[in-house]
Parts: sequence; C-alpha cells; structure tokens
Amino acid sequence: MDEKIERILVLAPHTDDGEFGCGGSIAKFIEAGKEVFYAAFSTAEKSVPDGWPKDILETEVREATKRIGIPPANLIIYKYEVRKLNYVRQEILEKLVKLKKDLSPQLIFMPSQNDLHQDHQTVATEAVRAFKQVTILGYELPWNTITFHTQGFIKLEKSHIQKKILALNAYNSQSQKAYAAEDFIWGWAKTRGTQIGTEYAETFEITRWVIE
Ligand SMILES: [Zn+2]
Repeated sequence: MDEKIERILVLAPHTDDGEFGCGGSIAKFIEAGKEVFYAAFSTAEKSVPDGWPKDILETEVREATKRIGIPPANLIIYKYEVRKLNYVRQEILEKLVKLKKDLSPQLIFMPSQNDLHQDHQTVATEAVRAFKQVTILGYELPWNTITFHTQGFIKLEKSHIQKKILALNAYNSQSQKAYAAEDFIWGWAKTRGTQIGTEYAETFEITRWVIE
C-alpha cells in the first residue's frame, strides 16, 4: 500500500456505485488508517421503487458508508436529478473543483470512462477535468460496460469482501437487482483475484497514475 496516499475520494454518481465499484478497497484503505471521503451526486428519488420513501437512498447510503467505516462527516451528498447529471455538467465540475480544494485528495476513484450510463459518464468526464494532478482509477461496474480494461488491481482479503457485502446489504430498496446478489459479489471478487493469482481483488482502469 502506498504510504504517501493518505486522503482518498470516492465519486459515486448514485448512492451505491462506490460500494459496488470499490467497496472492498475502501474497507482495505480504512483498515490501513487512510482517510476516505465519499461524494454521491444523486439520491435518485425518481428511481426509487414503489412503496419506499423517496429519500430512502439517502438513508441507505448513510448506513452503508457507516458500515464500511467511512465517518459520517466524510459523506457528501448532492441532490441532482437522476439521469440528468449532464444537464448540470458545469455545476458538477464546480462541485468537484471545490472538493479538490477542500479535501486535497491524493487518489480518486470514479466510474470508468467506458461506463455507458449517462450520469456515470458525466462524473467521470468532469472528474478528469477537475483532478488534473492526482492518480485517478476508474472502477468496474460490469453491467454498465461493453469494454473494460483490467489494468489495475487492488488485492483484497475475505474480510474486505465481507465488509463490501455488509455495506451493500444496507440498500434494502435495491435488493431485487441481480448484481446485488451475494454470490455474484463473491464470484466477481474471485474472478478479479484469479487474474492476479490472489484470492480476491477489485480491478480498475487507470485514467492517470502519479508516482511521487
Ligand atoms: Zn449509478
């Protein structure tokens, strides 16, 4: 683990993207004493299934990030409308520039630049603009990509995947999604681990790599 990296920022267009894309890595960094911040750009009120309160995803992201070890003060929630982040591209860029100024993160996790979701594309594009001097890793969400380059890996332990699942289980309103299934999360982590001869891993596209 890079000793010089102390502050890490996870960019999540929607509330659960960060846990899916790099939840195991977040658990590993927190265990190593790093400071992790999590910024969510939409609580997707228009996508909440019937029967749930409209703000359920805000409640769930607070619980999920707490379970993974992110201090509540390090969770930043913006309330942009789901599927319309590109309508407010400049505002999002300005929020990212402010995060850079306020937090001085040395490592950014964001959606892959090959992610097909329009909101994910907006956050990824603006993040590259905003964070010009630091390492940026694009996390994998297999249901959102045709092509994903498994260029970077973070080795994980079983306990990190357990933490990731514990966090994802906080999203009760999303449990019907196929990719929320625990056996999928285990198989995914094992697949990525197998690629690098270890038991579990998460993989990342390298957008920028800065070595100090
Ligand atoms: Zn998303």
